Amino acid sequence: MGKPNETSHSLPHEGTVPRRRRITREVRVGDLVIGGTYPIVLQSMCATPTADIEATVAQCQLLAEAGARLVRVAVDGPRDLAALPQIAERSPVPLAVDLQENYKLAEKVATWVKKIRYNPGHLHHHERNIPWEDKVRWLADVAAKHGCALRVGVNCGSIDPAIRERFPHEDSVGLMLASASAHCEVLERHGFTNYVVSLKDSDPVRVVQANLRFAREWPDVPLHLGVTEAGLPPEGIEKTKRALIPLLRLGIGETIRVSLTLPAARKSEEIAAAKEILAEAELASEVAPEDLEPPAESKAVAGLNLISCPGCSRVENATFVALAEQVREITRYAAHLPLTIAVMGCRVNGPGETDDADLGLWCGPNYVNLKRRGQLIGRFSYETILSEVKRQLDLLIAELGGNSLQENRS
Ligand code: SF4
Repeated sequence: MGKPNETSHSLPHEGTVPRRRRITREVRVGDLVIGGTYPIVLQSMCATPTADIEATVAQCQLLAEAGARLVRVAVDGPRDLAALPQIAERSPVPLAVDLQENYKLAEKVATWVKKIRYNPGHLHHHERNIPWEDKVRWLADVAAKHGCALRVGVNCGSIDPAIRERFPHEDSVGLMLASASAHCEVLERHGFTNYVVSLKDSDPVRVVQANLRFAREWPDVPLHLGVTEAGLPPEGIEKTKRALIPLLRLGIGETIRVSLTLPAARKSEEIAAAKEILAEAELASEVAPEDLEPPAESKAVAGLNLISCPGCSRVENATFVALAEQVREITRYAAHLPLTIAVMGCRVNGPGETDDADLGLWCGPNYVNLKRRGQLIGRFSYETILSEVKRQLDLLIAELGGNSLQENRS
């Protein structure tokens, strides 16, 4: 990689980048640099089972050909671990790894990847007697020993319970910010600076709020931007644009990922969407920071909000994407109503990420769990889940009052 230019106004281009960029520290991800005056890094994540080496290498190639410069894979256990060396050797771009609850896997994957993403909200699941700060220092030491970067990947749906207690439930921006800041403080005090941060929410307004506030408090730390569970295209692209374009116009964001619910064969559309977003951000006029001051009440999506995860190695049934599409179809008659329906691909994040939805579905291998406003209703087969969703939706509509529904149908 060539030496970057000296000013933020004459960036080395690899495609379109916003006109104006803040300058953060440089974070080294193998030969790739995130931050500084380097181009914004486009990245994505494999939706193939990591243990399936051929499928995952092909997925890395697909994403790299589309323009991804970093690809993330999930590693959850021995079969994924066994596949990782071959995937790393054959991938045309460096790998990042996504760790969930078992942070100890970092030690086993660090040889093969250039970046390790951990979720602060998942560090408490194992070894509860060890303070989370010690776990972060241990992760930093592993990363430093192997020359890896870290990502502190904060997600609104899985905040550390110790931090959750300190904020009202509805203040998800405050929660995310407090979590990210606490981890930055530990890493900085430990002398580890080769890290980026992400603060993701499914609500684009909250993504803007959280990243704007973080950028003010930690201006030197590169930000990975994204909207979690943005959902199916084209709605998921529009939702992501509403978050990323205002931030990019302000020069905030050193790497981006557009999370779309897509089958593995179409994952390159995430990179195409990211390019589209960068192009629009560059063409857009400047926005003053005060224009982005948060509204008192964030309601980013008018009418029914369908959120769904992008899928990854952990998806438990191959029909997950089709299920999300079917849910979109059968709920169109309620598109004008202020309801949220969440569709998640696995049991790892499904239960937590559906807590705030009016109806939440998450996939198991042979059944779909259904939750209504935080309460589990039951498990349904893939053949019967849609009729149950429809039944529950009608009940919710009846609670809201049927007038608006009648108006929409007439
Ligand atoms: Fe992967 Fe599960 Fe997250 Fe979906 S909810 S992206 S399947 S970890």
